[in-house]
Parts: sequence; C-alpha cells; structure tokens
Amino acid sequence: MSAPILELSGISKDFASGGESLRVLDGVELSIRPGETLAVTGPSGSGKSTLLGIMAGLERPSLGLVRRDGEDASTWDEDRLAGWRRRRLGFVFQSFRLVPTLTALENAAMPLELLGADPAEAEEKAAGLLRALGLEGRLDHRPSALSGGEQQRVALARAYAHAPALILADEPTGSLDRATAEKVLAALLELNARSGTALAVVTHDPTVAAALGRSVRLERGRIAP
Ligand code: ADP
Ligand code: MG
Repeated sequence: MSAPILELSGISKDFASGGESLRVLDGVELSIRPGETLAVTGPSGSGKSTLLGIMAGLERPSLGLVRRDGEDASTWDEDRLAGWRRRRLGFVFQSFRLVPTLTALENAAMPLELLGADPAEAEEKAAGLLRALGLEGRLDHRPSALSGGEQQRVALARAYAHAPALILADEPTGSLDRATAEKVLAALLELNARSGTALAVVTHDPTVAAALGRSVRLERGRIAP
C-alpha cells in the first residue's frame, strides 16, 4: 500500500473566544491515501472547514501531528507548507473564488503558472480541461459573464490542471440549485475518476457523500464512531 498523502493523528484545534478557549477539533484521526475519495459530513459548526484548513496546511493544529507525504510537517515553515500546497493540492470552494479580472482560461491556468509552467503550455492544459467540461465556448469569459455552474466547472479545471495528489472541496455544490449541483457533481466525479486523484469533500448533500468511497461524520469536533 502506498504512503498516505495526509495522515492526521490526535489533531485538536482550539480557538480563543471571548477570553475562553474553544475546542473546535478534538482528537481527530484521519488518513488519505492516493486515489482515495472521502466525504466529511456533520452539522454546521462541527469543525469541517477547520479540519479542511488543517489538511491544507492553512491552519496549524493546537495538538497532534500532521504527516504530509510521510513527513512530519510540524517543523515546516510557511514557505515549505505553501510549496507543498501548490504542488500537491487543488481546491474547490462553495463560492467558486475565481479571480474576477481574469478569464476562465486564465483562472484555470493560474495554479500551473504559479508552479512555473510555461504560460502557453499552462493555457493549453487548462483549455483541454475546460473543453472536457463543456466550456469550449467560454474560455474568454470573465466570471461575471458565467453562470454559477459554469464558474464551478472553471474552478474544477483550475483544481485539476496541475495534476495534484489531493483535491480538497468545501461544499462544492452548496451554492448551486439541485439540477446544476448534479451536473457539477457528475463533472467532479468524472474528472476525478479519470485522473485518479484523491478527493476529500465537505458536504451536507447525501448524494455527494454516497458517491464517494468513504464517509466520516464530525460531531462537535470529533469523528463519530
Ligand atoms: P463547519 O465548517 O463544520 O460549519 P467550522 O470549522 O467552520 O465548522 O467551525 C467550527 C467552530 O469553530 C465554529 O463554532 C466556529 O465559530 C469556530 N471557528 C472557526 N474558525 C474560527 C476562528 N478563526 N476563530 C474562532 N472560532 C472559529
Ligand atoms: Mg464550513
């Protein structure tokens, strides 16, 4: 079996809240192996986004150990974490988070360019993904000229273009109507199956969770048995 991309052991996270300390994650154990797909469910406020932030290396745990590609990442500085994130991760957000001043093509090519790819090659790769997602007529559109479903498909192309090891998605269909959500989910699953990328999706949607290989539920910061 190949080494996990991420291995979280005994992860707790405390936030200061009005002079008190609030434990938002409490002893979380979770691994993600190459190619594995995982749903993270749970009620609002149960710590799902905080957990995703720790997986991404955007937040540091208060307690516990995060291994990234088998290495203890607690000693990594911010540059090293950011480099790992750029190479190994892709992100999909509920609110799309495209850059409003860039076209669909420029948005999708951006992570590859940040990794130092030749701009023409980055755009060719991004254009191929956008076409595969049915956006061939939208390459030069800015986000404001795209529907929500189209914007999220651009975000999918952006997430996958640099062939990351793991995609982290926080409620990727949460701001879309049911029919559009189903199309975006189908696109996500197809891209993911084709690329063999590991995928962790925070979701309230049982249809999304049922489509993924494994499911964990957070309740008050703990993984429910
Ligand atoms: P979920 O994504 O499951 O809705 P979150 O991880 O966003 O939950 O939040 C879990 C809890 O942690 C909430 O009570 C939230 O208010 C609190 N929280 C999240 N981020 C912070 C922060 N930066 N500072 C203080 N409290 C936070
Ligand atoms: Mg959340």
